[in-house]
Amino acid sequence: MSKVNRQEILSILDGYDKDDITIATLGSHTSLHILKGAKREGFKTAVVCEKGREVPYQRFDVADEYIIVDEFKDIVNEDVQQKLRDMNSIVVPHGSFVAYAGLDNVEDKFKVPMFGNRDVLRWEAERDLERKLITESGIRMPYKYKDPADIDRAVMVKFPGARGGRGYFVASSTEEYNKKIDSMLERKWIEEEDIAKAHIEEYVSGCNFCVHYFYSVLKDEVEVLGMDSRFESNIDGLCRIPAKDQLEVGLDPSYVVTGNHPVVMRESLLPQVFEIGDNLVETAKELVKPGMNGPFCLQSMCTDNLEIVVFEMSARTDGGTNTFMDGSPYSYLLFGEPMSMGRRIAREIKNGIEEDRLDVLIT
Ligand code: ADP
Repeated sequence: MSKVNRQEILSILDGYDKDDITIATLGSHTSLHILKGAKREGFKTAVVCEKGREVPYQRFDVADEYIIVDEFKDIVNEDVQQKLRDMNSIVVPHGSFVAYAGLDNVEDKFKVPMFGNRDVLRWEAERDLERKLITESGIRMPYKYKDPADIDRAVMVKFPGARGGRGYFVASSTEEYNKKIDSMLERKWIEEEDIAKAHIEEYVSGCNFCVHYFYSVLKDEVEVLGMDSRFESNIDGLCRIPAKDQLEVGLDPSYVVTGNHPVVMRESLLPQVFEIGDNLVETAKELVKPGMNGPFCLQSMCTDNLEIVVFEMSARTDGGTNTFMDGSPYSYLLFGEPMSMGRRIAREIKNGIEEDRLDVLIT
C-alpha cells in the first residue's frame, strides 16, 4: 500500500475550521495529560476509547467527546477516521496509539492530520534505524555485539517484540549466554527461531535517566521539559535482597516497567543533555524529514564517568511524561506556569494557528 499522501493531509487540514480544532488521542498511555493540556490551552478534546475503559476520562473530566470503539485498533477504521475529521481533529500519537493502530496503518491508512512526524515512528520501532539515527548524531550508545562468541564483558540480551523487559537477561561470557538461552528455551520464554533475533549489547552500569525533550518547529529550538526514571519489576525488588540471598532464591531478573518517578540531574550534566538533544534533532532533519518534530525522549544510563549513554529512544511523547502532568522543575524554568508535555503540544498547535503555520506541525 502507498503511504498517506502529504498533499491529502494538507487538503484535509485546509478544510478544517481553525477556530474549532479538536485535539484527539487514543484513551491510554499519556492521554490524560494530553487532553487536559489541550483543554488548558482552550481546545475541544476527543478521546477514542475502548468500550469499558471510559472511567478515567469521565472521572478526571478531560474529554469533551467520546468515540467508543470495541477494540483500540479500531481507531484506524474508516468510520472512526471520518468522525475525527468531522471534528476538525489533530491526533496526538503516543506509545499505545502506535502499538494498537499498527505502524503500517499509521503510515498507509490513517488519513487524519497528526501532530509531529509520522515517518519518524518507524525509526524508534526498528532497532537498526534507531541505532543509525542515534549514532549518526554522535550520541554514545551501548556497544552492539554481532556474535555471542565475542562476548567479552557484561552484556544485556534483548529479544524483539512486545515482551517489554520480560525476556531480557544479563550475561558476562559466551558460556553464560548459552546457558541462559537454554534455560529460556526450557521455560518456553523464547522459541528456537528467536535465538537468531537476540540483540546483544554492552551492559551499561549506571543510573537511569529518561529525558523528555520537545522540539519546537515554530521556534526551531529544543526544550528539556522533564526527566524521569523507571520502576522496573522484578529487578528493583531483587536489588532489595542481600547478595547472598539473591544467589539462593534463584530468581531471574526482568526489566518490566511498572511506573515512573520524576528526577533531576546534576546541573553539570545539563550541557551534555542539551547537546545530545540538539544533535539528534539536526540529524533527524536530514535522515527522516521533516525531523524530530514535537516530543521525544532519550532513555539513558549515566555512568560514574558522568557519561550519558542512550539505550533507547521514543520518537513521540513517552510514558514518563506522566511524571509532570502539572510541570517539572525544568518546565518551570522555561515557562513559570504548569506545563505538561500535553499542554506544550497544545501550545505549539495554538501558536501554529495564530502564526498561520499549522501545516509545518502536522503530517
Ligand atoms: P523500555 O522498556 O523503556 O523500552 P528497554 O526495553 O530498552 O526500555 O529496557 C528496559 C530496561 O532495561 C531499562 O530501563 C534499563 O533498566 C535496562 N536496560 C536496557 N538496556 C540496558 C543496557 N544496555 N545496560 C543496562 N541496562 C539496560
